Amino acid sequence: MSKHTENSPAERISEANRHVLCPNGGRRGRADDRLHDECGVFGVFGHPEAATLTYLGLYALQHRGQEGAGIVCARDGHLVGHRGIGLVADVFKAHRLAQLEGDLAIGHVRYSTFGTSILKNVQPLMVDYARGSMALGHNGNLVNAGQLRDELEEDGAIFQSTTDSEVIIQLIARSKQPRFADAVAEALGKVIGAYSLLATNGETIVAARDPRGFRPLWLGRLGDGFVFASESCALDIIDAAWDREIEPGEVVVASEKGIEVMTPFERQPRKLCAFEFIYMARPDSVIFGRSVDAVRKRLGANLAREAPVAADLVMPVPDSSNQAALGYSHESGIPFDMGFIRNHYVGRTFIEPDQKIRDFGVKIKLNPTRSAIEGKRIVLIDDSIVRGTTSRKIISTLRRCGATEVHFRVSSPPIVNSCHYGIDTPNRERLIASSKSVDEIRKFTGVDSLAYLSIDGLIDATGYSRDDFCLACFDNAYPTPVPDDFACRQNNRRHYDLSTDHLTYDGAPAPY
Ligand code: SF4
Repeated sequence: MSKHTENSPAERISEANRHVLCPNGGRRGRADDRLHDECGVFGVFGHPEAATLTYLGLYALQHRGQEGAGIVCARDGHLVGHRGIGLVADVFKAHRLAQLEGDLAIGHVRYSTFGTSILKNVQPLMVDYARGSMALGHNGNLVNAGQLRDELEEDGAIFQSTTDSEVIIQLIARSKQPRFADAVAEALGKVIGAYSLLATNGETIVAARDPRGFRPLWLGRLGDGFVFASESCALDIIDAAWDREIEPGEVVVASEKGIEVMTPFERQPRKLCAFEFIYMARPDSVIFGRSVDAVRKRLGANLAREAPVAADLVMPVPDSSNQAALGYSHESGIPFDMGFIRNHYVGRTFIEPDQKIRDFGVKIKLNPTRSAIEGKRIVLIDDSIVRGTTSRKIISTLRRCGATEVHFRVSSPPIVNSCHYGIDTPNRERLIASSKSVDEIRKFTGVDSLAYLSIDGLIDATGYSRDDFCLACFDNAYPTPVPDDFACRQNNRRHYDLSTDHLTYDGAPAPY
């Protein structure tokens, strides 16, 4: 049985929700073996080059979403935007940026959750409504978006996308609040789940973080203007000063009058996403009051204390495990080396040769450095195991390159549940740790020994307490209610995307 923390009676849900059978067979999540964030947001208020600065900020946040990007800017209160499929550099060429004039802009990078991206889901979404225009971009996932969508549709609303953001937009448009920021706050008072979002009506930028604070959101300053960003690394790229992180439950309004802070929501215990520290955020960022680099090194150090082993070399699965491997190496005294080199120029699409190449999907991203591996007892560090298929291929590559022993150490606890708050995870049944013991996973991946970091080791590395975090993918304690049909709706939404656009995934096994 799952545990739930401090939900009001109205928020209570059925424990059976994660086992609801879906007509489509319960497929969920992209067909690869990593977790993915679903978005990053960036905005600038009060700078003549707002769109160009937003473009640069999105560049720094590219790791949070690689399949779609958009910028909406405002000139004299009039919104103009451009969105497209692909990386930021693909979507925004010089002539496009030149068309985005104004001193206010919000931008978004998106990770599409299934199959290919479709343009109508790329954000910021921009609409005209009775009181003018607005645009909105959102990082996170709402657990009651499906119910709200049903209610809105019954009331005559027409949706053009399958994003949660459009639900928020509909709620804002229906608000009777005369002031845009108050309408946004009122709309957000009706949603449950994770959001760090930016909205604009062309005159103000409203930034909001949900009451539990799952996802990070920064406020920076640039000259007389203001900057909002999912991570601090995006403030650095434009030399914006770090002001502070927006607190859980805060709505921050940037306008000609300066910054206004509202706290319109009922207080909730904060529930930071632990996976932001483990994998999602860039190591050069500070989020949730902590250096991601320092936390990841402590994850590795704690792993070395919890699961020591005699070996010649510590090596990461690059790049997300580099810091944890450094921490393990430093704590254990075992030398660090890069046994794999990552190709940073691989996009999502490549042409596979007709002739089968063994482990092609892994090879195109990671190539082994044989001289570093041959004849060595290796401690391989990875940040997580999702389905285990990629790990198995990486480990078989190590064996082929002459590693004499492979000891697999994972800088997170076993992932046993899907995330409902904006990290794309496979259905529970496809998570290897949900059905296999550590020893069974050891055998499946083909290693000499396997150990995961404990939840206590994870918490210790952050310097916070367990109550500060969402750990639902590890411990099944979802911090919000989740409707019984949530997983089913998620799947159907993805199928809707597929059926209306590109049928690129047929439920076959992942390419690697
Ligand atoms: S379930 Fe896991 S990935 Fe999702 S918000 Fe909680 S800790 Fe993060």
